[in-house]
Amino acid sequence: MKTAEEIRLALSEIAKTIEEAKKSPRAAAEVLMLAVTKTRTVEEIRAAVEAGYLELGENRVQELCDKYPQIAGVRWHLIGALQTNKVKYIIDKVALIHSLDRLELAAEIDRQAAKHQLVMPCLIQLNLAKEETKAGLYREDLADFIKELAKYKNLRVEGLMTIGPPEEDPEAARPLFAELRALRDELAQQAYPHIKMKHLSMGMSHDYRVAIEEGATIVRIGSTIFGPRPPYKNA
Ligand SMILES: *Cc1c(COP(=O)(O)O)cnc(C)c1O
Repeated sequence: MKTAEEIRLALSEIAKTIEEAKKSPRAAAEVLMLAVTKTRTVEEIRAAVEAGYLELGENRVQELCDKYPQIAGVRWHLIGALQTNKVKYIIDKVALIHSLDRLELAAEIDRQAAKHQLVMPCLIQLNLAKEETKAGLYREDLADFIKELAKYKNLRVEGLMTIGPPEEDPEAARPLFAELRALRDELAQQAYPHIKMKHLSMGMSHDYRVAIEEGATIVRIGSTIFGPRPPYKNA
């Protein structure tokens, strides 16, 4: 486990890399870095929060709900696969859901958000390489999916999300990140009244630099901040 000082150091290294990557002609003017806190202790998370990183990403509903009351003054993002029957636990706790990938989930988010009289910002997760182990909508299903979303008034799509390929080499992710960006720009052109196409959530520890060069507005970083991740028990 890293000390608070080591975590601060890692964060300042990442901040430098982000500034470098933002010099790319395709980079967004602003890039939000989520500190991905899955498996990390409250103590480790506080080190990042105290260094000024106030947007946190969690994969799992249970873990998010456990940590939620223990860390004040931050915004939580749900970045992992979301089971429909668990939406009710996080609907009033998260700032953005990154993993919207099916209509059944959209319907439940809409229903729970209406109950709480809020509008839930979501990103549509795409599985561009059709990796069997990954969640996310296929590209060819996206247009119909977006049309169907028009009926959900308490859910607002704000962009797209994807997870790069597992290859070590970050360049392997570049074509997919460029494709996600092109897709977002295409959808923005079509100007659907019920969606916004502002965000591109893409890039993790090993490929965030490339993601930013290709236009990411949100990167999701865990192990580069906190060190190698202990495996999930009983995953
Ligand atoms: C775990 C996770 C991350 C962060 O991964 P690192 O490689 O540790 O940076 C980002 N996005 C998602 C969806 C994740 O599950």
